[in-house]
Amino acid sequence: MTAHRELKQAIIDTCLRLEAMGYVIGTYGNASARVPEGVIVTPSRVDYHSITPEDMVTVNAEGTVIDGERLPSSETDVHRLIYLARPDVGAVLHTHSFYATALSCLHETVPVIVEEQSQVVGDAIRCAPYVPAGQHAKLGEAVAGTLGASNGVLLANHGVVACGRDVSEALFAAQIIERVCQMYLMTRAISAPVPIPDAFVRSERDRWLYKYGTRADHDGAH
Ligand code: 13P
Ligand code: ZN
Repeated sequence: MTAHRELKQAIIDTCLRLEAMGYVIGTYGNASARVPEGVIVTPSRVDYHSITPEDMVTVNAEGTVIDGERLPSSETDVHRLIYLARPDVGAVLHTHSFYATALSCLHETVPVIVEEQSQVVGDAIRCAPYVPAGQHAKLGEAVAGTLGASNGVLLANHGVVACGRDVSEALFAAQIIERVCQMYLMTRAISAPVPIPDAFVRSERDRWLYKYGTRADHDGAH
């Protein structure tokens, strides 16, 4: 029997949604979720439409494969090192979505410019330095070292990573990051967008995590 079958299927379903949204093409991108034994990650270079739960790979905290016959994603270190650095993260998605990847070519930080970003991403979206394809350990260190407290980070001249407490929240973050990058590029073409002040980024993040949708928020101060 395959362990964590439902979670593995949820990761595969998420990859198929990312593909349907145009965030990944071919076998680009990869996805993972944290489990007590380590990290469940998509196999390297396998068509999303053919991946089954049996194809998913589990690695331990050191990156050693402990379950699965396939090769784990070549970018497994990106996922593994994010989980080590961020105990609050339960799922990580890497895509090559269009606007985020376009922005990654500018090697710039996207400041917090809209409500969804302050609430779900929680911080600016910084850009990790360029690492050539194939230097997997270096890429992992660059990405995990740049993420900070944010749920999004750009990979220079490559793509983007979105994080969440679970797979559905990571998907939500990936969608918000892509919209933010599109809006940032559009507004930048006209003028310099005005960021949300840091104090409000923190209070909006807190509200979204602990208050939004509750009576306390509804009846709160005006
Ligand atoms: P993998 O198929 O090894 O996960 O690599 C995909 C990718 O995004 C390469 O940049
Ligand atoms: Zn990639």
